[in-house]
Amino acid sequence: MVSVSKADDLHIFFLPFLAPGHMIPMVDLARIFADRGVKASVVTTTGNIPLIQSTVDLANADPSLRHHIQILPLHLSFSDAGIPQGYENLTAFRDTDVVFRFASATCKLEAPFSQLLHAHRPDCIVADIFYPWASRQAKDLGIPLLLFHGSSLFQTVSSIVLRELKLDEITEETFELPGLPHRIRISLSELPEFVRRPPEFLAWMSECARDSHGMIMNSFYELEREYIDLARRSNYMKYWFVGPVSLHNRHPDEKIARGNMAASVSSDQYLKWLDSKKRRSVLYVCFGSLCRFTAAQLHEIARGLEASGQPFIWVVRHAGEPAEWMPEGFEKRVIGEGKGLIIHGWAPQLLILNHEAVGGFVTHCGWNSCLEAVTAGVPVITWPLFADQFFNEKLLVDVQGIGIAIGATVCSDRAEERVLVKEDRIKKAVNELMGDGKEAEERRRKAKELGVMARKAMEEGGSSYLEMSGLMEDLVCMKLVRLTKQM
Ligand code: UDP
Repeated sequence: MVSVSKADDLHIFFLPFLAPGHMIPMVDLARIFADRGVKASVVTTTGNIPLIQSTVDLANADPSLRHHIQILPLHLSFSDAGIPQGYENLTAFRDTDVVFRFASATCKLEAPFSQLLHAHRPDCIVADIFYPWASRQAKDLGIPLLLFHGSSLFQTVSSIVLRELKLDEITEETFELPGLPHRIRISLSELPEFVRRPPEFLAWMSECARDSHGMIMNSFYELEREYIDLARRSNYMKYWFVGPVSLHNRHPDEKIARGNMAASVSSDQYLKWLDSKKRRSVLYVCFGSLCRFTAAQLHEIARGLEASGQPFIWVVRHAGEPAEWMPEGFEKRVIGEGKGLIIHGWAPQLLILNHEAVGGFVTHCGWNSCLEAVTAGVPVITWPLFADQFFNEKLLVDVQGIGIAIGATVCSDRAEERVLVKEDRIKKAVNELMGDGKEAEERRRKAKELGVMARKAMEEGGSSYLEMSGLMEDLVCMKLVRLTKQM
């Protein structure tokens, strides 16, 4: 007699892509599954374990967890795939245009992953979309593969629409994306390389997506409803919208542990600083985990922030020596006087964004940052740089009306290729966002409303909660069918 009735009987492998913007939400997702009683194993390379260890330790301290989350290490070297020693994460590279080359090199993970699979024989694999080989492994073991998508559905739908267009015949500076529920205009220069010249690897990813059991999306119905309805009508594949997964981090310690990279300022220091500021007066400025700017652009940002007169926290990464870009006297005038705070390295974004003193966010529109702004109910200045970010900008600005576009026009992994955004433009956008005008109030109202919807979606009975329940039922059923067949 086969008896599989509950999620407690399921063991799932989670395989995140090796970049913070992929690992962080995948670990949040593993925790959500673990909360439902699933035995969750996060599989990653030894060099990437420190990035997630504290989050997993904190999660495991919860006595109500049915199974501890385990981290299973993959031992490997990428060096024979042309990747230098120690480059185990996308953050190690100077420019993000290596992403598909890096993803190809991670095919090296397949053999050690297969060994772990056969040793543990889980019931399902949840793999990042950047691991198309996972499809072979799932088939080999006769278990379902679910893919985890790190971006918006809006981006997926827009990319599909763009694939149908003859881009080299487009002569207008901006053109409308046909067939979308909203009027969305885009220019060729805003399109990422993977849309303009799709690499072969992308075709393999699509093939794997078609072979998979479906796609788990870090999004929620209320945020992308028209696009979700459209995708579901097209029957292209199964989707589950189970986010925003970052909402699973409720305690301040969880928010601080997330991403766990070194910062120049201790959390006590900036919390004290934030506590001293008026409600929603502070602008938070952060461009994710990978981005680099030229010294000239950093200089303009510093000048623009100072000129706006708005208190700010600015997270600066990969920036070289401050003397190369910091305006003269900035440290004394701005930082010394308590008008702004610079965090070199890593900031606990969730903790900062959800502090009541924060009233706006300058974001590069990485999907996690977009969702985190939405869940915090904070309006944004959108400053997309590369990859899917220009699409996400359009969702926040044109569809949801919670953002002001800074006016970036060139999508490029290389800082030198982007157009310089000048001090005046930055100052103007900051003053508009943080000001008291009618439009600013309306943006704030919409952002707050979306934040409430995001939280409701994740609560018991909410849209994401119910999607997760449906997925669990599916997985339990599939295991039952599999075991019955084996009898
Ligand atoms: N993040 C953070 N502190 C930082 C920079 C980033 O906590 O100083 C987190 C952020 O909250 C988000 C993730 O790292 O969860 C970045 O993902 P996103 O998709 O926004 O951008 P990416 O880094 O992939 O470009």
